Amino acid sequence: MSDLDVRWIHGSPRGSENTDPPIQVHRYDPNTYLLRQSKALTSEAPFLYLLFGDERAVLFDTGASKKTGDENPLRETVDKIVEAWLAEHPHESYELVVAHTHGHQDHVEGDEQFADRPATTIVDRELEVVQEFYGFTSWPDQNVEFDLGGRVLEMIGTPGHQKASLTIYDPWSGFLITADNALPGRIYAFDFPTYLDSMERTVEFARTREITHVMGCHVEMTSRPGRDYPVGCTYQPDERPLQLTVQQLIDLRDAARSVKDKPGSHTFDDFVILNGPARRYLVPLLARALWAKVRPPA
Ligand SMILES: [Zn+2]
Repeated sequence: MSDLDVRWIHGSPRGSENTDPPIQVHRYDPNTYLLRQSKALTSEAPFLYLLFGDERAVLFDTGASKKTGDENPLRETVDKIVEAWLAEHPHESYELVVAHTHGHQDHVEGDEQFADRPATTIVDRELEVVQEFYGFTSWPDQNVEFDLGGRVLEMIGTPGHQKASLTIYDPWSGFLITADNALPGRIYAFDFPTYLDSMERTVEFARTREITHVMGCHVEMTSRPGRDYPVGCTYQPDERPLQLTVQQLIDLRDAARSVKDKPGSHTFDDFVILNGPARRYLVPLLARALWAKVRPPA
């Protein structure tokens, strides 16, 4: 039993009261949870992954907000899920690993909430720490395994958007978790040659795995082809589903190939590729964000 038949929280219109909980929890299957932070808490509204194995669970990412307590009850939410799972699967001891898809600020801000949690390992966001924790000796082009106990994740290094970015394959759910490298939104390929190399390797890797869904960490596209919500948007009533298909992953690789010599912003039906350092496209992006604040899209 597994499903992505879920309406994600997507913010509230300007001027109306926020009706979203700070964190939405979706149980994809009995051992796989997705969490989304609300647009009211952070316009990034990232998705987090909580995967349970026989010996440990791993939480990939801690979100974009440093707030705590009722405003951002991440620790409480995760503790409740772990408690409920352990009630179904009693263990004498059970570890939680708090790790990251990549090291950008909007994926690590909740780390501190777990600092005093018992039986918890936090994998800091720095590249050297990530390499050492998973046992990378030849970064990035190496497959390493991370065993949750009867659930062995496979990962490869996929820098380019961020230098410690991982792509994670979970054979249990069939998810290919692609961090911010592949998602229905703006894909910031800051170091483009490195990003393209990562996409080439990701597609090669995906070819020989049974993948149900390609799962990123944000949604920014509307349901209209080639139309994204502006940066900083806090209400996305018409956003797309989070998941991409393997075909869309291949399309993204092909699209990246096609713009490799063209710095700047390139819009495709299912994603926007931003080639190069931010100064190449920041002004139009921010201008559009500002305009949207003056005149919110209908
Ligand atoms: Zn990122």
